[in-house]
Amino acid sequence: MSTPTQAPITFDLKPSAHALPDAEREARLADPGFGRIFTDHMVTIRWTEGRGWHDAQLTPYAPLEIDPANMTLHYGQAIFEGLKAYRQADGSIATFRPEANAERFQASARRLAMPELPVETFVEAVELLVQQDQAWVPNQAEQSLYLRPFMFATEAALGVRPANSYLFMVIASPAGAYFPGGVKPVSVWLSEDYVRAAPGGTGAAKCAGNYAASLVAQAEAAAKGCDQVVWLDAAEHKWVEEMGGMNLYFVVGEGENATVVTPELSGALLPGITRDSLLTLADDLGYRSEERKISTEEWKQGNADGTITEVFACGTAAVITPVGHVKSAAADWTVANGEPGPITMQLREALLAIQGGQRPDTHHWLHKI
Ligand code: PMP
Repeated sequence: MSTPTQAPITFDLKPSAHALPDAEREARLADPGFGRIFTDHMVTIRWTEGRGWHDAQLTPYAPLEIDPANMTLHYGQAIFEGLKAYRQADGSIATFRPEANAERFQASARRLAMPELPVETFVEAVELLVQQDQAWVPNQAEQSLYLRPFMFATEAALGVRPANSYLFMVIASPAGAYFPGGVKPVSVWLSEDYVRAAPGGTGAAKCAGNYAASLVAQAEAAAKGCDQVVWLDAAEHKWVEEMGGMNLYFVVGEGENATVVTPELSGALLPGITRDSLLTLADDLGYRSEERKISTEEWKQGNADGTITEVFACGTAAVITPVGHVKSAAADWTVANGEPGPITMQLREALLAIQGGQRPDTHHWLHKI
């Protein structure tokens, strides 16, 4: 859906005269949790067929009014992104690889037959919101400001077809440390009854429907006593794909002979930006890395014979989370000794140090606000 007549996108800034008082904001920042409280402002940009992107604004955070025939409510044209702004060691603020989120957002839009927002506009929108609400970026270690860009159809109509109008928005929510009491391994359930994504489906897109479809499997994992669901491929239920909201890594071997292995991008799993960054970071730290298929059988055998020494999940929310225990209908095993492994923790600390400005940003991943 290209728009040949696209006019330059300039933002109209309308900051709130009634931002939350400092003391109240500080009280909320004391225990932010995740995704419960929101900053004072939001960004909106509209897209209309024939006109393209227009009415880019930064305004006070406020509810939206939705027509009951809004096409998103019926047919689900809704995509989103997730990235964070990090307080740097010197007090400044930076986001991490926002262009990569912008590009993934464009890929999601293409898959859902939605208009593509220019990368520079996505990045500018995020930047403006962080700048405006910078007092909401926490100062505490491992805390951050989570940014949620998203887009949905705004046309009111019931015909099944791409809508002729959309709203892009960015909202922001302070996020507490994922592991306030220290890094704790998670247990995972290998889902054989439910499938997240099939070849040709929407698995590689960050669309709302993927998450709606995952909830029942996540509930099944919880009922089996596990923290998270691990998705397998749709055709054979044999190949490991990813977790509910994170990609997976396997450490094969030990010490300097270790190789970090992550399932290849099959088209059915989300191309995580943390996953991609870790391929580079593993290389920086002297490990080999591989993107390939890995089966549940290889995982089980490798665990039993000691070749698979560590397993972890990775994503923006929790950076790196060790996997300590695996359960399926037929099997049950502890990953190595069930404790966070040394390479898992080394990668975690290295990535956190880059994001926090304590380790040189040799790959130019940080985007200073
Ligand atoms: N897989 C899924 C299904 C996700 O929702 C996420 C979170 N965006 C990830 C993987 C990890 O992606 P990223 O590293 O870009 O946060």
